[in-house]
Amino acid sequence: MRIKGSCHCRATTFEVSEAPRTVTRCTCSICSKRGALWAYYRPDQFKLTSPPENVSAYRWQSKMVKHGFCAICGCGTFTESPDWSTGEPDFDNPKIAVNARLFDDFDLDAVEVVVIDGKNLW
Ligand SMILES: [Zn+2]
Repeated sequence: MRIKGSCHCRATTFEVSEAPRTVTRCTCSICSKRGALWAYYRPDQFKLTSPPENVSAYRWQSKMVKHGFCAICGCGTFTESPDWSTGEPDFDNPKIAVNARLFDDFDLDAVEVVVIDGKNLW
């Protein structure tokens, strides 16, 4: 079942191919301040349905992770990064972390929240 999402002002809209089974709350410095709950997708499972120029990006430290946000309303929208599941960046295996709080008509309370201790892991 496809799910649609949008930022508050709807300058950014997107679709994902399926509902997340879990969402991730990460304790690292940026995730804790952004307040996002992340749902992870492969690039082919994610479709931006608004003009790409509406997406601003914040990069810091290694600059390998692109933290997208809406330039108009400021909502954190989605983050593009290499896969890090092995502990090393895998650039052949990019991932898109979508802020599940932006899903429209979706019961986020019904999805289990997995906590990652990013504050101490990286
Ligand atoms: Zn917006």
